[in-house]
Amino acid sequence: MGEFSELATQVMARCETLGSLSQDPHCLDRRYLTEQHKLANQLTSGWMIEAGMTTWQDAVGNIWGRYTSSVPNAPRLILGSHLDTVPNGGKYDGMLGVVAAISLVAMFDGTRTKFPFHIDIVGFCDEEGTRFGTTLLGSRALTGQWQENWRYLKDANGISLEQAMNNFGLSFDDIASASIARTDILGYLELHIEQGPVLEQEDLPVGVVSAIAGAKRYNMTVEGMAGHAGTVPMSMRYDALSCASEMILAVEHISQHRPGVVATVGKIENAPNGVNVISGRTLFSLDIRSEDDELRDKALSEIIDSFNAIAARRQLKLSIEQTHSAPAVKCNEHLKQALVKGVEASGINPRILASGAGHDAMAMADICPVAMLFTRCKGGISHHPAESITEYDVAVSLSALYNTISNLQHA
Ligand SMILES: [Zn+2]
Repeated sequence: MGEFSELATQVMARCETLGSLSQDPHCLDRRYLTEQHKLANQLTSGWMIEAGMTTWQDAVGNIWGRYTSSVPNAPRLILGSHLDTVPNGGKYDGMLGVVAAISLVAMFDGTRTKFPFHIDIVGFCDEEGTRFGTTLLGSRALTGQWQENWRYLKDANGISLEQAMNNFGLSFDDIASASIARTDILGYLELHIEQGPVLEQEDLPVGVVSAIAGAKRYNMTVEGMAGHAGTVPMSMRYDALSCASEMILAVEHISQHRPGVVATVGKIENAPNGVNVISGRTLFSLDIRSEDDELRDKALSEIIDSFNAIAARRQLKLSIEQTHSAPAVKCNEHLKQALVKGVEASGINPRILASGAGHDAMAMADICPVAMLFTRCKGGISHHPAESITEYDVAVSLSALYNTISNLQHA
């Protein structure tokens, strides 16, 4: 790992520098179309130029660099991840994938290694969707998936997406020019921190992603009858909160018996929410994910069946509203195998694992083959200032990517 440890030091330092660009002085918070977005793009493009790349910013605000192929009309291999963060975020989520790719290209440039394809690095401007409530804005602009009505999306201060783009020096009307042709892309490779505890538990520095889980989300509303906590006998109650509690435990129980499926109730609203009032109405969320859509939907229908049975037995009304649905995205077999070989060549046992979190690769899969490499992160903690990775794991990640890209050359 010797030759990569110096690069890893550089990657760690650059994540630290990017991590200092925040719109909030108390924590890391860097959102789309802010001054700090602009500064992050400038900083990143400076590093790209140092690495021997030509750079540009596209119409949505992604920053790009190209390590040009010596072959005319060469296809492009795209590497990258996102440069935006959640509020109170960590300094490796997203940034690692951009910064590591730049250091690798610098290494190729240093040895004058040329490829039969361009190596394009992209720093996506908005993956988290924190400012306008819609995720993957950067990568979806590339794939032509932007929608006209997003023009009117507003941030917490009432500034529309269109206005924010104008303030940044971009134009909503030019967004189509950010889309890229699918014909000349070899693939999209994304290095990202795992954001979960699996690699740490198995004592592995990296892992190869099999698929990005598909997710469905719902709002469940249970309606009962509010009443006086002292006067209504237990046998005559229609307690919405008790009913919802039974349903929430059913979610946990059913998903515990469905390997490959994770289901979560993370949000609850109760009314009237008084200490001496029987609950009349309870709303809770349901988020259910799997890398296998069929498996997920089977568990989901079991959960809904149990909800209906619980509501019927307690004689309460249940309404179900779907708020989100995204299919699972499988990683490309050829690229995945290339990563497996790259990991093996670095002397590491290639663990294959699914991604429970969403990534830019999900959007990119619309236009090209995608694959992802995960770097172990401490305690599986992410979207938090305690997000932490080691220099050794970064060196292994760089080595695995280096081997993968070098091998693609001969594929
Ligand atoms: Zn991320």
